[in-house]
Amino acid sequence: MIPAAFEYHRPKDMAGVLAVLEEHGDDARVMAGGHSLIPMMKLRMADVPHLIDLQDVGGLSDIDVQSDTIRIGALVTQHDIITNDALTAVAPILREAALQIADPQVRYMGTVGGNVANGDPGNDMPGLMQCLDASFTLVGPNGERTVAAREFYEAAYMTAREDDEVLTAVVIPVPSGGYAYEKQKRKIGDYATAAAAVQLIKQGDTCVHAAIAMTNLSDTPIFSEDAGAALIGTSLDDAALKAAVAAMLNDIDPTEDNRGPIAFKKHVAGVILRRAIERAWSRA
Ligand SMILES: Cc1cc2nc3c(=O)[nH]c(=O)nc-3n(C[C@H](O)[C@H](O)[C@H](O)COP(=O)(O)OP(=O)(O)OC[C@H]3O[C@@H](n4cnc5c(N)ncnc54)[C@H](O)[C@@H]3O)c2cc1C
Repeated sequence: MIPAAFEYHRPKDMAGVLAVLEEHGDDARVMAGGHSLIPMMKLRMADVPHLIDLQDVGGLSDIDVQSDTIRIGALVTQHDIITNDALTAVAPILREAALQIADPQVRYMGTVGGNVANGDPGNDMPGLMQCLDASFTLVGPNGERTVAAREFYEAAYMTAREDDEVLTAVVIPVPSGGYAYEKQKRKIGDYATAAAAVQLIKQGDTCVHAAIAMTNLSDTPIFSEDAGAALIGTSLDDAALKAAVAAMLNDIDPTEDNRGPIAFKKHVAGVILRRAIERAWSRA
């Protein structure tokens, strides 16, 4: 399908982006890689009379790895994540997850900022960022503010970002311990039927930290604090794994769609989470 007519804006800096947003209000929307927004415009699910391309805005494409934090600019692509060795050295879960997003063509264009800002429950990076306790930097007419990934998602396509704000960066505390991103999908290039992001820290035989987030099993990503708590203080025996899966199932709220009925999705979620925990533990 062909999208409805729109005016194309390509500002050279963030002030220019904010000016167009202020002038046109709800009629304006920023575009990063365009791999979610353009299909929605073509399907007439999004009406965007003023499209603001972010590609010429400087300072949004860097990956900055410091000793305690990682800053990823909003225009960094999934391909950039996969090929950045310094990033993979400190946070390998980002590469493991990015490799499971769509296909190479999409990953060359799809950005981290677009993936987390969109609010699509099927996107993989929101849950990943919740697991890593990331925060999002937003810039708007009143300046800059930070929102935790765990507080950002309100409902499908509804987030804490105001319409006149632009997400400029994702900031992640450097993770430690074992990690796994496990995703079940129907075929290569598909969104998740269920996906789990897990980070664990082991001391001796005991789990002392566990962060777990699930994707495409509710209308928002689900950070399951109770699932993580079920693992802490245990040696990840079968009882602990069962308790974590039960806690996670209590937190998710899947709906039936072309990826399967509710009971199937819950079953897949349990299998995926167990696999992710076991792989993270083996790496911890
Ligand atoms: C065939 C196909 C398969 C896919 N499969 C997957 C998958 O398995 N997993 C997955 O996670 N994703 C998947 N995607 C989505 C892909 O990763 C998208 O590229 C990504 O979600 C959005 O990034 P983008 O840069 O293209 O954003 P855009 O399409 O440019 O924007 C998406 C939305 O976010 C807003 N936005 C973008 N950037 C910003 C910003 N900096 N600040 C504020 N708002 C912003 C836009 O206004 C728009 O509403 C798939 C896409 C396609 C086409």
